[in-house]
This record gives sequence, structure tokens and C-alpha cells, in this order.
Amino acid sequence: MLATKEFTFDCAHRLPNHEGLCKNIHGHTYKVEVTVSGGLQGEGPEDGMIVDFKRLKVICNKLFNQYDHAYVSSIKDTEVNAFMQKMHFKLVIFPGSPTAERMAKAFYNVLQEWTKDEKFCIAEVKVWETPTSYSTYNESI
Ligand SMILES: [Zn+2]
Repeated sequence: MLATKEFTFDCAHRLPNHEGLCKNIHGHTYKVEVTVSGGLQGEGPEDGMIVDFKRLKVICNKLFNQYDHAYVSSIKDTEVNAFMQKMHFKLVIFPGSPTAERMAKAFYNVLQEWTKDEKFCIAEVKVWETPTSYSTYNESI
């Protein structure tokens, strides 16, 4: 059984090695779909659920609030990062270009770690960078 909740947040990034416009600082309204898997609970407040969507929302927003209105950067983009830090801008640093693929994998790993003691599993994370482009990371990849 699967259940999915959607989240959105806004952040800026740039892809330093991109040959086109994506090398410039620009923003996206990211949409993230977090899919959980597990059996239905048979009793208690989550009876009939994999997990209460409201509880999943609290867990996921703890992560996505770190990204909302942040600049998501590559660790290799040292001059830009130094400027962002000097200006005290909200900054999230990635090991490489902050693509939708890297974000999906990073979100999956963090959420999986945060929910390792839960009865459900994080099955898949889908990151929509634009209304027509998304990347998926799941347990079979
Ligand atoms: Zn972009």
C-alpha cells in the first residue's frame, strides 16, 4: 500500500557547469511528492492509515522549511557561497550541482533516516522543478 503527500517550496539555485541559462541564479517553485509504503494500521488514531498525512506533513516540513526561500548551491561554487554567507543569506550546500536529481536523492535519504523507527517506509521522492520536469528517487534505484 502506498500513500503520497505533496509539498511546495520556493528556492533559488544555479548549475555552475550548465552551458545554457541554468548557469545563472534563478528560482523555482519546487513541488515534492513524498510516497510512503507500509501496512494499514489496525487500531489507534492511525487506524486504516499507513501514516496520518498530518504527521507526515510535520516530518517533511521540518526538512522542506530548510529549503524554502534558500539558495541551494554546489560546494564547488566557492565564490558565490562565500558571498551568500557574508550576506547571511539562507544557504543549503550540495556536494555538486543542485539538480532535481540530487535533491530527490537527498530528500529521500534524510526522510528515510528520520523515519527509520516508524512503521512506514519512505518509498519514493519525486521532485518537480518545473510543471513538466521531475526526477524520482526510490528504494529500487
Ligand atoms: Zn533551475
